[in-house]
Amino acid sequence: MSVKIIDSLTSKGINSAAVLDAIAKIPRESFVEPPFRHFDMCYGESPLPIGHNQTISSIYTVALMTQALALNKNLKVLEIGTGSGYQAAVLSLLCGSVFTIERIRDLSLKARNAVESLNMHNIIFIIGDGSIGYGEYAPYDRILITACSPDIPQPLFNQLSEGGIMVVPVEKNGAQNICVIEKKNGAMFSKDIAPANFVKLIGKNGYEAQKSQQRCDF
Ligand code: SAM
Repeated sequence: MSVKIIDSLTSKGINSAAVLDAIAKIPRESFVEPPFRHFDMCYGESPLPIGHNQTISSIYTVALMTQALALNKNLKVLEIGTGSGYQAAVLSLLCGSVFTIERIRDLSLKARNAVESLNMHNIIFIIGDGSIGYGEYAPYDRILITACSPDIPQPLFNQLSEGGIMVVPVEKNGAQNICVIEKKNGAMFSKDIAPANFVKLIGKNGYEAQKSQQRCDF
């Protein structure tokens, strides 16, 4: 990871030393497809394809959402949308444990391989519909949704601990925004922090699958 990338993230408002350090430590090349492994693409500004019509988010988007979660080593985090596993790997350096859910088995298995090859052991991979969360290990101190939701998913808010933070891209009037939600005395406080461009959250509390996206593996 070059100083140039860290400088670029800093200039865009990523000022958490812990987040920058985690980003610097995780080799993004391990999570992208071979044609995109050269530095400029891998660490560039655009999301990249990972197969099954899905994407790995840009490094800036990963840094921004991670910073918004205000993590520490005592926290239990739920991620919806494992994708390549890169975001889960970054989170895992900053919290106690990560539960990550993916609806496409092949992506989940590939992500698990990538993470295991880096000797990381505090990530639990789950295959299923993350739009309903994962009640078995709830509540979670932090929830990160890395696919765009049609609204703030109430079942996931219900699985958030008191004092917890959820970060989710939400579509409103045809535009996406990354929304940071806090739970205080059971009530929801939310603010938008940046425009976004995510693939859709498909599932019971997300969007309906289009024909091309109907395959799911649970
Ligand atoms: N966090 C990922 C990474 O680091 O590569 C990027 C995630 S990608 C933008 C969104 C992912 O969400 C896709 O892999 C997609 O299959 C997954 N997804 C969409 N709806 C889902 C659902 N209901 N449950 C679990 N995963 C879902």
